[in-house]
Amino acid sequence: MLIVMRNDATADQIEQVCNRIRQLGWMPNRIPGSMRVAIGITGNKSAIDPQLFEPYEGISECVPVSKPYKLVSREVKPEATTITVNGQDIGPNTFTVIAGPCSVESREQVLVTARAVKAAGAQLLRGGAFKPRTSPYSFQGLEEEGLKILAEARDETGLGIVTEVKDTDKLDMVAQYADVLQVGARNMQNFSLLQAVGRLNKPVLLKKGMSATVEELLQAAEYIVSNGNFNVILCERGIRTFETVTRNTQDLSAVAAVKRLSHLPVIVDPSHGTGHHWGVAPLARAAAAVGADGVMIEVHPDPRHALCDGQQALTCPEFKTLFDQLCPLAGLMGRRI
Ligand code: PEP
Ligand code: MN
Repeated sequence: MLIVMRNDATADQIEQVCNRIRQLGWMPNRIPGSMRVAIGITGNKSAIDPQLFEPYEGISECVPVSKPYKLVSREVKPEATTITVNGQDIGPNTFTVIAGPCSVESREQVLVTARAVKAAGAQLLRGGAFKPRTSPYSFQGLEEEGLKILAEARDETGLGIVTEVKDTDKLDMVAQYADVLQVGARNMQNFSLLQAVGRLNKPVLLKKGMSATVEELLQAAEYIVSNGNFNVILCERGIRTFETVTRNTQDLSAVAAVKRLSHLPVIVDPSHGTGHHWGVAPLARAAAAVGADGVMIEVHPDPRHALCDGQQALTCPEFKTLFDQLCPLAGLMGRRI
């Protein structure tokens, strides 16, 4: 259930309602909102009787929440959420472009890419230091050395870092370096990892599993948010279908569905979404048109020699061309880039 407080509710009245929720054995979650304070109740096993709160002052209404996810839903928070990373807003008024290599391979490779994507206009730098590879014999990432290289690129360019955390035992280390913690598609339902990133106060980029439904994605996000971290950015990165021409099928309808059901920002990853360099720009442009809050693009200075995902990487000049195309599209959609 959601308790919507009146605009003129006092801090004391809000605290009394929160205390009552705790007394009943549940969790009060204050929903950040510009207009009024709302308190989402979690931890209840069955429907809550609104009469329990009748004696309390300052309450405007008690709204039952029907969905299996609550705090991430539009029912609980109608207005779209904006998340700020390194001074960059990700939300309804902006179109955020995250770019960089699939994996950190060397200092030179990251710095060259970081400088190029920064010069083109990108707002954040991506790069994996812990890679979830299908084969155990594939390049697994440079681990902490890779994180240090990313930090050096941030120091030089000012770009915030998006990097994947693969396991809970490496979370503290990755969080020391990252501005955004990426939870990969294969880990979308790693509930211990979701809970652990939920206990941190650091933005999380949650990628949709390759066979996950939208409702499963939103419940995964709920694991993070219900642990106290509201800074979750969702990412559509393609799903498995019968199609073989593309690596995955970019499910742009999921973006429209997520926008309707959730207040969280959602971005599109057309690199994994199509799996081929020729698919990246068309789907990135489509992402802007479908109303996504941004895109994440794999860029490599020499894709033919990339240690990971070279077939879907744009070169630095190709990225610049795409960025220039995205600017007017974002403007048409009423967003700054
Ligand atoms: C990545 O972004 O490099 C990655 C591994 O993505 P996904 O988890 O979507 O496969
Ligand atoms: Mn990749």
